[in-house]
Amino acid sequence: MFRTAHQPTGATLGRAALVVAHPGHELNLTGWLTMSQPSVFVMTDGSGQLGRSRLHSTTKTLLRAGGRPGSIYGHLSDQEVYEAMLDQDVDLFLRLTFELADWICLDDIAYVVGDSAEGYHPTHDLCRTIVGGAVELAARVRGPIGNYEYVITGPRIDCVMGRCRGAIKLILDDQALERKLAAARGYPELAGEVQSAVERHGIESFRHECLHPVDNRKSWTPERSSQPHYEIHGQSRVAAGKYQRAVSYADHIAPLQAALWEALDRSLEAGVGTSMAGARMG
Ligand SMILES: [Zn+2]
Ligand SMILES: [Zn+2]
Repeated sequence: MFRTAHQPTGATLGRAALVVAHPGHELNLTGWLTMSQPSVFVMTDGSGQLGRSRLHSTTKTLLRAGGRPGSIYGHLSDQEVYEAMLDQDVDLFLRLTFELADWICLDDIAYVVGDSAEGYHPTHDLCRTIVGGAVELAARVRGPIGNYEYVITGPRIDCVMGRCRGAIKLILDDQALERKLAAARGYPELAGEVQSAVERHGIESFRHECLHPVDNRKSWTPERSSQPHYEIHGQSRVAAGKYQRAVSYADHIAPLQAALWEALDRSLEAGVGTSMAGARMG
């Protein structure tokens, strides 16, 4: 159905978890979902754009492709997460990190795949930090655990050409590619995004599913003169009177990530791998 390069098949990779900021991200990896049948964690219900949850469409994808919901499955709305960033609610993100670490330990997860931080959406970037933190906490209890990211909005062809050292790489055959496109087109809330991804990157780019090994502490920092996409978007929403405040990298995301790691480091120093080991931060 597909072949893998650089790495053995899912069976020998061990149990997997997928952690994404938004429902629908899993459409990028339906070949891998079928192969690895991961536990799937979704931070928000995806209600941001249309004001209503699109989680049921992700459930439909999982029923077809494979995978089952983890303990974090769209309990928060996009607005709640956005406000938590504005309010610097470290506790909320810390709780998610500990909960994920618990699951990694309890479910005997060998490797975690999560969003990459690209400066595109602040929840994607925080999702990356939560995955890194949870893997680091769980590794303290369980030993080495793989941490992988996949490209969300970046150019896929670049990924195919490079950046792939040590990656778990799937190349879908025609049937698997057809199923992937059918799943994407059967996700009504994202029809427009799927179509524009096809136009931007070409159908062939969907054949490649690439999971890059990543450092637990990896984050995204803007280049000197550039502004993250989410700041530009947020500021235009404020100008249009849709938002009262907008998330920025310097005022919200960077301090939140620093505070998260500070709390996680305190708990790592205290020898607390996960909340099961006796303490929860916060
Ligand atoms: Zn997203
Ligand atoms: Zn790659």
